[in-house]
Amino acid sequence: MTLKPDFQDARHGTLYVVATPIGNPEDITLRAIRVLGAVDWIAAEDTRFARRLLCGHDVSARLISLYEHNEQRRTPELMRRLVAGESGALISNAGTPTISDPGYRLVSTAAAAGIAVVPVPGPTAAAAALSASGMPTDAFVFVGFPPKKDKALRRFLERLESEEKTLIFYESPVRIVSFLRAAESVFSDRFAVLAREMTKPHEEFLRGRLSQILRRLAERKAVKGECTLIVVGAAARQPADADLTAAVKEALAQGMGVSEAAKTVAARFGVARGRVYPMALAIRKGSVDP
Ligand code: SAM
Repeated sequence: MTLKPDFQDARHGTLYVVATPIGNPEDITLRAIRVLGAVDWIAAEDTRFARRLLCGHDVSARLISLYEHNEQRRTPELMRRLVAGESGALISNAGTPTISDPGYRLVSTAAAAGIAVVPVPGPTAAAAALSASGMPTDAFVFVGFPPKKDKALRRFLERLESEEKTLIFYESPVRIVSFLRAAESVFSDRFAVLAREMTKPHEEFLRGRLSQILRRLAERKAVKGECTLIVVGAAARQPADADLTAAVKEALAQGMGVSEAAKTVAARFGVARGRVYPMALAIRKGSVDP
């Protein structure tokens, strides 16, 4: 097989961890299609779903099911195949395998056994949502799915309350409203972005404070589709005075009055109007360099 990287022990196969689309079927890479067509088998979270995906790209492959509840007993079999020289690919139903999806046990066992584990990168909802969120991206925490039970959820959020990095959560549409309420009560009214149905026809980004997103969702009969929530970190809640001053100057230069400029900038940065108003007044009176 021509797929093996040079550094790999020629006697063993390679395990490819292949990302697939999170909605839009066009979001599969050329390399993913090539690798999926070349491996000896594909371990898939749902073989019927995988068959449909592969058919769309004229790929026929031996599919082996690997999901949460059979991963433990399936891993030794797949390891025997890899050790014997077969190459395999791991895919999930959406996005990057092992990211809130099955495959961690297989990947860690293979890596520990010296099998080459090669990523074939592509979509992941966390990176897609973060990249379009407009929230700080220099450092972030991928939290994944929060606990479902109220008490555990609250404790979990309390542990994250002082986290300064941008937070990324996965949540089901059934629980997103109660999750947002819990987040608002622990984090207070921070800025957040709800990325729903990304890459699909009804893709939507709801941006605003947690309370504003909740209000928008309350207008609907039900929340549908896949949801990823980005919440600004604790540090980003309090912007520097210099940033506020610059934004106020810009607003005043656009012709806004002191009150309106303070209101606009306070809403944009998620701070109290009382913090911005004196700055706007000082700039207007000329006690701060324009
Ligand atoms: N492995 C996937 C990845 O790389 O993102 C995640 C799988 S996890 C079981 C599914 C969760 O990912 C959903 O409940 C949702 O929180 C998020 N998700 C997946 N697709 C999404 C989409 N198109 N838009 C928004 N969130 C999505």
